[in-house]
Amino acid sequence: MLIFTVLKKRIMQFLEGTKLYSILTGTCPVCHKGKMYVEPNPYKFSKALKMHERCSHCNTKFKIEPSFFYGAMYVSYAVGVAIAVASFIIAYFFIGLDRDYTFLVIIATLVLMLPLILRVSRNIWINLFMKYDPNKAKG
Ligand SMILES: [Zn+2]
Repeated sequence: MLIFTVLKKRIMQFLEGTKLYSILTGTCPVCHKGKMYVEPNPYKFSKALKMHERCSHCNTKFKIEPSFFYGAMYVSYAVGVAIAVASFIIAYFFIGLDRDYTFLVIIATLVLMLPLILRVSRNIWINLFMKYDPNKAKG
């Protein structure tokens, strides 16, 4: 387990300052320090999408305008399709399940990953509009 922790830390250090870092960690798109979500665990459904109003580190307002995150629905469609295709390839070609089981695997994967898909979509969406600012990261 230790090796995974070290590896994860190294990868995250490598990604710091890139949009991918903010997308994967759910941190503020501008400073990569403050957390966007109130609840760290996306599988606590009642709070899964509850977000801080502003970044605790750089004071960036996350919800740029009313219903800003509705746009994340388009992203979640793309993310959902990508995950469905990936689970199809794994189940059908790699594991060699028949068509019916492959279909069930795709549905199960999408249902189980829904909270993650919703969050990642929001993270991608907000990162389309905001840019990392090293000065604000220090401040
Ligand atoms: Zn911030």
